[in-house]
Parts: sequence; C-alpha cells; structure tokens
Amino acid sequence: MSALGAYVEHQRELGVLGFPRNPGPAPEAPRARTTSVEPTPGNLFVSPGLEATRNLEELRTHIGDCRRCKLAPHRTHLVFGVGSPRARLVFVGEAPGRDEDLQGEPFVGRAGQLLTEIITKGMKVRREDVYIANVIKCRPPDNRNPEPDEVASCEPFLLRQLELIGPEVVVALGKFAVQTLLRVKTPITQLRGRWYDYHGIKLMPTFHPAYLLRNPADKRLVWQDIQKVMLELGIGTGPR
Ligand code: SF4
Repeated sequence: MSALGAYVEHQRELGVLGFPRNPGPAPEAPRARTTSVEPTPGNLFVSPGLEATRNLEELRTHIGDCRRCKLAPHRTHLVFGVGSPRARLVFVGEAPGRDEDLQGEPFVGRAGQLLTEIITKGMKVRREDVYIANVIKCRPPDNRNPEPDEVASCEPFLLRQLELIGPEVVVALGKFAVQTLLRVKTPITQLRGRWYDYHGIKLMPTFHPAYLLRNPADKRLVWQDIQKVMLELGIGTGPR
C-alpha cells in the first residue's frame, strides 16, 4: 500500500471528518483506497484520481482551483510548493502567510529569507535544489492555525507531493507542522533535534524561521538540527 493509501486508511480508523469510522465488525473486509473514496456529503476528501497523478505537474492540475475546504474563499493564490521535483530534502512549513498568499510561493517573506540563508549559507545548497512546501496550501484568515478538517482535506496533497518527489529527508518547520505531521501534542522544544518517521521518510523537526526572527538566540539549536540533516544526506561532511 502506498503512503497515501495508508494515510487514508489511518484517517478512516481515527474517524476523522471525511473518513467515517468503519462501523462494521468484520476486520477482514477490504478497505477503500484513496481513489475509491466517494464524494458524499460531509466527506471532505473528494479527490478520486489523486494516486494516479504521475508527477508534480499532474498533481497541480489535479488540485486545480481547489474548493475542497473552507479556506478556499480566503486565498489570493493556492501555494503549491517550489523546488526540485527530485529533491533529496524537503522543507515543510505550516501554511502560507500574507506574502506567500500574494506571491503564490512558500517562504518568501522575512522568514523565507532566513530559510534561504539556512539552505544556501548554512548548508551550501542552492534553494532550487531542495523542495519547499506547507502542510496547508491556502492561507488561513488572519494567519490562524489550520483546523483539523482543513488538514484532513489538504494533507493528502502534501503526501502525494512527497511520494512523487521521493526525498530522503523532510525537515518540518515549527510547532504546527511538526505536531500535525507527527500527530502529537508534545512541545517542539522536546521534539526538535531527533529523527522521526513520516510515512517512510526520515523527518527532522526544528523551529520555524519566523520563531527564529523573534528568538535569534535559538538559531544555534536549528543549526544543530540542520547539521544532523547534512550528516544524514552526506552534505558538507565528506564522502558518504
Ligand atoms: S487548503 Fe488545501 S484543501 Fe483547502 S482549498 Fe486550499 S488546496 Fe484545497
């Protein structure tokens, strides 16, 4: 089963909105895959064909002028993601902010500049050689945290994006992205700096660049986390 298929199955088991809990007592009954989820009222995951997308262009076409959750009316641009379609490293943030919504690209404001410095000056990697995306592709009003039904609607797109890119490492940026992807409520101060598994991909949580703008003393902690990522990828540390 693909990571996306496993994700959908897990959401069903949890009874997340849009994935009705299986009421039947027959555990052996075949379970639905993504493409067989029917677009019924209240079912927010109405995206048959998602698993059939073969590359990022097809995925972007599939998402289209998305109205699958209640964030759609608030956006200027749907922020899909940027970078190399074969990136070994993907950064995942929370959701587009004002600048990102206006420009249609993730991490373009001051926090984005700091992320670019981490990538280019710290890791000595070109920004276009990594991939950058968010858990949620449309800006929540007033930059509020995305809500569970919005995550349930949008995260499958991120998961398919990661399946198509096939990175070795995901760096999750900030409390919301980390806690959402890992399905935990543990403070990021306890999560950061350690490896986790996200659907078969190694995931490193660290602080969000926007947090670092307010707390520059913690840049050294992010640098520690990034050095672990570089070691894992064999970047700047000699031959693998
Ligand atoms: S946040 Fe995601 S699911 Fe919601 S409208 Fe935007 S692209 Fe669609």
